[in-house]
Amino acid sequence: MQTSFTPEQLRDPDMRESNRILRTCVHCGFCTATCPTFVLLGDELDSPRGRIYLIKDMLESGRPATPEVVTHIDRCLSCLSCMTTCPSGVHYMHLVDHARRHIEETYRRPLPERLLRRLLSLLLPYPGRFRAALGGARLGRMLAALVPGTSMTAERLRAMFRLAPSALPAPSPMQRPQVHRAEGKRRGRVALLTGCAQQVLAPSINEATIRLLTRMGVEVVVTHGQGCCGALDHHMGHHAPAMRLARANIAAWSAEMEDGGEGLDAVVVNASGCGTMVKDYGFLFREEPAPWAERAAKVAAIAMDVSEALERFGYAPTREPPGLTVAYHAACSLQHGQKITALPKDLLKRAGFAVKEPAEAHLCCGSAGTYNLLQPEIAGKLRERKLGHLERTHADLIATGNIGCLTQLTGGALPVVHTVELLDWMAGGPEPGAVAQARRARREAMAEQGAR
Ligand code: SF4
Ligand code: SF4
Repeated sequence: MQTSFTPEQLRDPDMRESNRILRTCVHCGFCTATCPTFVLLGDELDSPRGRIYLIKDMLESGRPATPEVVTHIDRCLSCLSCMTTCPSGVHYMHLVDHARRHIEETYRRPLPERLLRRLLSLLLPYPGRFRAALGGARLGRMLAALVPGTSMTAERLRAMFRLAPSALPAPSPMQRPQVHRAEGKRRGRVALLTGCAQQVLAPSINEATIRLLTRMGVEVVVTHGQGCCGALDHHMGHHAPAMRLARANIAAWSAEMEDGGEGLDAVVVNASGCGTMVKDYGFLFREEPAPWAERAAKVAAIAMDVSEALERFGYAPTREPPGLTVAYHAACSLQHGQKITALPKDLLKRAGFAVKEPAEAHLCCGSAGTYNLLQPEIAGKLRERKLGHLERTHADLIATGNIGCLTQLTGGALPVVHTVELLDWMAGGPEPGAVAQARRARREAMAEQGAR
């Protein structure tokens, strides 16, 4: 694609990068067929190619974002399916990130939307605030059906209340800053990103990760000062808070890696949306003054999804196969963002599960960070489509590697669990609640069949 940025514009490193990305696109349109919003809406401007044109025009002109551009960029899930499909290697992720930042800097959203985005930014990345807010949201959940109107704001409020869980698990002491010693001879030392929303919604995921790794001889450090990876803000175009959160993590992990620390073999991330972000810290901080660019690159270089860490340290189950079939839901951030496709399924099979894959496994479930709150209609349609495919596998339960997908898919016919909880169970950990639920459903189905 030809571009016409001025030399002055190209002095900006973000613009230089976007120019480079735009020039790799050959407008072939292969990406449209695998883009969830194009599949649903059928509008070229809701396809990757259409969005690339819109972004090019917006950035080249240097003008503030228009409502039309904002509409189509906001509808993008950042699922990165287009990056998997693209034969030319267009780095759509960095391009759309730049576009979102430009939008936030130049476009004034309507007041209700500004307030909602600010609220999400103030609550979600902070576990204490998020927990308190969910307490109120549980009351809201009961009132969700009473929210009047069909406006976008009313839809968003209903979506927020619907997604709030009916009960919250107690906070886990294992997630507090501390060192979890390895069992037996120490074979490795890793930092665990305990995350923000995940540690409130499902502390069992971090608990399973810590149990499993320490049992495998890996010391797990939960460092002081780490927190949200910054992705929630980053995907809303809130650059400054995203960088502040990322910098705090880089500082916390660098303290372990640099002189005086005990060293790290990996930074383990068990929410794949966060993993994609942490692996991109090197790019995000590339222009930052010393020591940040170098520190960020080092952190990014050792960041691993939990499935990669389990493979590296030699996961081996100890229980007999449970006789359960798992439908594996590939989170977009894992399959498209990190290109980790076979490994989680291989680990599940090694653990003794029969693994099935749904049709259209490449399409997003509609979760996408805050997307299901900001674009509830599209997110709802994608959820129904995904649940339909997952249920048609006739599996006992769904496994996935991302808390966003887990929350989005909960409430369908099949229980949903994080992959690591199943792997931990098969290696001596407690049975996940979703498994008990799946076994109960199977017993009931058999009893019903017997009664016929
Ligand atoms: S597949 Fe790649 S090169 Fe082709 S239009 Fe899409 S982004 Fe451009
Ligand atoms: S990131 Fe996903 S929704 Fe956005 S353009 Fe690419 S395929 Fe479409």
